[in-house]
Amino acid sequence: MDASQQAGRDQGPVLDEANPFEGMMQRFDRAAELLALDPGIYRILRNPEKQIITRIPVMMDNGEVEVFTGYRVLYNTSRGPAKGGIRFDMGVTLDEVTALAAWMTWKCAVVDIPFGGAKGGVVCEPFRLSNAELERMTRRYTASILEVLGPESDVPAPDVNTNEQVMAWIMDTYSMHKRHTVTAVVTGKPIAIGGSRGRREATGRGVTIVVREALQHLGMPLAGSKVAIQGFGNVGSVAAELLQDEGMTVIGLSDKSGGIYNPHGIYVRDAIEWVRAHRFLDGYPFGEPITNEELLEIEADVLVPAALENVITRKNAPNIRAKVIAEGANGPITAPADSILEDMGVFVVPDILANAGGVTVSYFEWVQNREGYYWSEEMVNDRLRETMIRSFGDVVRFSKEHNVNLRTAAYMLSIDRVAAVHRMRGIYA
Ligand code: NAD
Repeated sequence: MDASQQAGRDQGPVLDEANPFEGMMQRFDRAAELLALDPGIYRILRNPEKQIITRIPVMMDNGEVEVFTGYRVLYNTSRGPAKGGIRFDMGVTLDEVTALAAWMTWKCAVVDIPFGGAKGGVVCEPFRLSNAELERMTRRYTASILEVLGPESDVPAPDVNTNEQVMAWIMDTYSMHKRHTVTAVVTGKPIAIGGSRGRREATGRGVTIVVREALQHLGMPLAGSKVAIQGFGNVGSVAAELLQDEGMTVIGLSDKSGGIYNPHGIYVRDAIEWVRAHRFLDGYPFGEPITNEELLEIEADVLVPAALENVITRKNAPNIRAKVIAEGANGPITAPADSILEDMGVFVVPDILANAGGVTVSYFEWVQNREGYYWSEEMVNDRLRETMIRSFGDVVRFSKEHNVNLRTAAYMLSIDRVAAVHRMRGIYA
């Protein structure tokens, strides 16, 4: 009997089968089983530490009061303060926030930064709110979770539909209550109020570093290798630009509007300029238009899904022709697709490693805030590189030792690290 059976699977967050986060929890269970995790520790790690549900009354511009629902989940804080983004979206649910908070716990442990995992969200349609309404909602939400927030306890960051302005409002609200400026309470702030240089590019830069490490590990050349990237936002566009700078040929790009293909290479900076002017890649003249589905199946050496979850499924996995996949997005490959790709010999660098550059530089931002001393962009990038290379090496080593793929190894490594801390600290009674 494995740890998950002993502890009772029904005690975990109850999630929809089609929910990508259920896939994450399945992978957690598999890693726990392979680690022969003690059932007591399994029970601790399968459950969130704290879940806050809060109602947020907001005076709207028309004088009416609306009440929004917000959540903040601290999944595990054994390794340090909870860390995780806040999203504003109609799709936010307590189960989703809980699973994302667990995800953050594993991600921080994979790159070995001294944080636990958290996530938060408010159920709303941010694009239908005025700026003033958004600010009042953010401030009231912050006030309502004030007891958990703090540089030593819980440090939010931006996520879906939140940005550096929202972080500035959270920082200001928290600081007003504390009667002094506390920059380290959130990361992803504007640089003028304590944000870190290099934070905006950090996730795409981290993806670039792991792609380089993966190719080196497989004995494939970087220069001249072909890469296709799905998603041309923060992660995808930075990764595309940096991979091109490394000498790779970017043969496919896509966003919500569709994709473009050019076997001779797309000049990424030009495509970024096009999107700046036209909002989407649609109509970009220097390539052949393709669909997002076709982009994933391009014959490339490397594929970087950097848009959405669940894009490579049981259905299209057999058609994938890339040799390496680096998951820029969270959860782009479903669990059944994982097995198919493994059988096909595709080398997958999992999300909790590949896109951990963002949270790593968030950690650097928190450190700089606490030191009151700000690093150059070069220092940030050097330390990010060091962290990503070390973490990639740790995961590869674990995968060889246990004869598992990189995803299972990353989960095993992170769960092992969190479990070790629980064993050392013991249970306070
Ligand atoms: P973003 O909003 O900046 O960009 C998303 C991109 O995906 C856009 O180009 C958009 O057009 C495209 N897109 C949206 N729907 C699409 C569809 N149906 N088909 C193809 N493309 C589509 O977001 P981002 O910050 O770049 O995040 C992308 C992914 O990376 C998400 O899964 C996010 O959770 C993950 N991630 C981001 C960070 C970060 O620091 N930004 C860190 C870790 C993980």
